[in-house]
Amino acid sequence: MEKRVRVRFAPSPTGGLHMGGVRTALFNYLFAKKHGGDFILRIEDTDQTRYVNGAEEYIVNALKWCGIEPNEGVGFGDGPHKPYRQSERKALGIYKKYADQLIAGGHAYYAFDTEEELDAMRKRLEAAKVVAPQYNSVSRQTMRNSLTLSEDEVKKLLDAGTPHVVRLKVPRNEEIRFHDIIRGWVVVNSSQVDDKVLLKSDGMPTYHLAHIVDDIEMQISHAVRGEEWLPSAPAHILIYRYLGLENDMPKLAHLPLILRPDGQGKLSKRDKSGLPMFPLNWFDERTGESYVGYRESGFYPEAFINMLALLGWNPGDNREIMTKAEIIEAFTFERVNKSGAKFDPEKTKWFNQQYLRQRNDNELAAELMPILESKGVKADLKFVTEFCRLIKEKAHFINEFYDLGVYFFTAPASFDEKVLAKKWNENSKATYSKLRDKLNGENNWTADNLHHVFEAASAELGKIDMQLVRVLVSGVAGGPQLFDMLALLGKEEIMKRLDYALSQMK
Ligand code: GLU
Repeated sequence: MEKRVRVRFAPSPTGGLHMGGVRTALFNYLFAKKHGGDFILRIEDTDQTRYVNGAEEYIVNALKWCGIEPNEGVGFGDGPHKPYRQSERKALGIYKKYADQLIAGGHAYYAFDTEEELDAMRKRLEAAKVVAPQYNSVSRQTMRNSLTLSEDEVKKLLDAGTPHVVRLKVPRNEEIRFHDIIRGWVVVNSSQVDDKVLLKSDGMPTYHLAHIVDDIEMQISHAVRGEEWLPSAPAHILIYRYLGLENDMPKLAHLPLILRPDGQGKLSKRDKSGLPMFPLNWFDERTGESYVGYRESGFYPEAFINMLALLGWNPGDNREIMTKAEIIEAFTFERVNKSGAKFDPEKTKWFNQQYLRQRNDNELAAELMPILESKGVKADLKFVTEFCRLIKEKAHFINEFYDLGVYFFTAPASFDEKVLAKKWNENSKATYSKLRDKLNGENNWTADNLHHVFEAASAELGKIDMQLVRVLVSGVAGGPQLFDMLALLGKEEIMKRLDYALSQMK
């Protein structure tokens, strides 16, 4: 029988969750939803030295903002497999029994080497031109561990509480084969694999042991994670095998890297492409670095996750703008690429623009009102709604609206010099004053009627330059359709503005 789909996102709280991590969470979420399964948030905090305050809360908030909420786990409610923090699980003794089982079966051993001894080993191997020095089936023979020391000595050391770790005993020359849903069959020789530490000297399990124990105990059906974990997978296969759990292990899926916009290497959290690398603002109190979030930059979460879903996956047709439900419906690991996916900042903004355009003017106005308020701008909702209709085509983000149309809220104090230098001449003042008087006599102040008024005025006064009128009333050379703009600003305001502008012109 196929296992119930249960997937997990298992970040370590070592910093803010960057967009690569969000994509991993997203693909887990999509797969769970597609199959009516469970999506679990597990916090892998076994490396206490790298623990960062606030990281866990950040992860939870980021997933909430993105709308990819786990249905079980830290911050999202307990299920039958609580607790979901590895440090708490360790306190319950969950991991040690598995390590003991491996030791008893001869597949793991105690190692008493000090930092200095490990260092000396590395130096020795480097001097002997070993390419990747590691603790393995060869080098362990020269080290202080329960494979080289006598049983008595080991017992004495353990009884005396000598600091030690437990390592996996990787065989010398064995083929390790495993299947990855995205990459197909992978074959690695065990000589490439080091004797990974399973339990650290503080008794904490390492990621390698802890995630295996948890994936088994939490009945995880698929382990979906970043490509950076692929090199460790052969060691994981051995651990499952030695625990007699190879048939129960989750299926593996390693997601492709997200690459820099120029394709030259992995996207870093310090990328300079101008777009955020984090979903929400993040301040790293350790380094004092702060990072801007997608949320705070004005992105819609739907646009952000739509963009992320297509970083390494495609729906099998040329759709790009897709709702979450459509993405879930189309999602399969078979259509996740093996090769890295390039991050495209322009396209990312384009996604937001598409979602912005899908919103109606009332929705946009409701979003804009608080932004205006925060800038101390007073405007009524009806005016703002119509403003949104006029300005939205020009924007990628709601937070650009005000700057794009600031003159709708404040009369201009200066006028585009370039346009004036080119178009304003000794006759202009007379012509545009007459136009002003005509407009002043007009009571039907709609965009359509103003269009007619301008046509009639052109016939009578000679060519009326629309751009000049625009500059006189707004100060700038471009903007939404002129008659719409005049209509929205209203007759009284336009008269005031024309009077002021004409008083400034020669
Ligand atoms: N704790 C690991 C990480 O931070 C999880 C890897 C996995 O999903 O197995 O990425």
